[in-house]
Amino acid sequence: MGKIMVRCPQTGRSIETGMEMDAARFQRMPVFFSRAYCPHCRTYHEWFAAHAWVEEISDREDIALA
Ligand SMILES: [Zn+2]
Repeated sequence: MGKIMVRCPQTGRSIETGMEMDAARFQRMPVFFSRAYCPHCRTYHEWFAAHAWVEEISDREDIALA
């Protein structure tokens, strides 16, 4: 499983969309469109699946995600 991530258009930082999916499954999905809350801008950004990527979730707890 991985977390679906998108890039904030304002700050260029990565945002967690809150969705989780296998990378292989995500790549097979039809193009879709969603919104994600951006903690950097404190607002919602709309995003397309084509602009998103999957960040594999590690079991290691020493990886801190800002
Ligand atoms: Zn933002």
